[in-house]
Amino acid sequence: MEERAPSHESCCKIKTTTCPCPVCGNAGRKVTALTLDQHVPQHLRASIGEDAAFCLNPECEVVYCNPQGFVIKRGETLRLITIKDAGDEVLVCYCFEHSRGDLRRDIVKTGTTDIPERIRAQVKAGVCDCERKNPQGACCLGNVTAAINEIKGEIS
Ligand SMILES: [Zn+2]
Repeated sequence: MEERAPSHESCCKIKTTTCPCPVCGNAGRKVTALTLDQHVPQHLRASIGEDAAFCLNPECEVVYCNPQGFVIKRGETLRLITIKDAGDEVLVCYCFEHSRGDLRRDIVKTGTTDIPERIRAQVKAGVCDCERKNPQGACCLGNVTAAINEIKGEIS
């Protein structure tokens, strides 16, 4: 990024490393163009711009927001979002395409699942592509663990 920006832009820049969600106030996680190109539909891509954050609050309908207050909500992204969308068809791991239903099937059948270990092994092998494939732009393992605990809570 160019450092010699006009002063109002440099002030926004400070905020945007943790651009607060205009709906819930969550600090959010900064995402890159790599992530946005993959998950934002063409007609919204220019409006969200290059400086955007992913709202990490599962209760909030905002998926991406930018410092200008433009938001992309649940249902507007190209894929369903692990922490925003319910349902077994929603992916919990986008690199290797494990869904919530895959976790549930394992847990119902055997009481546990080896999916986190399988993901970890592939991450270790360097074949993950989280920044591009995961709408959060980051590793999915935290989400996978949370989903497993949720499912275990539901079926116990
Ligand atoms: Zn939010």
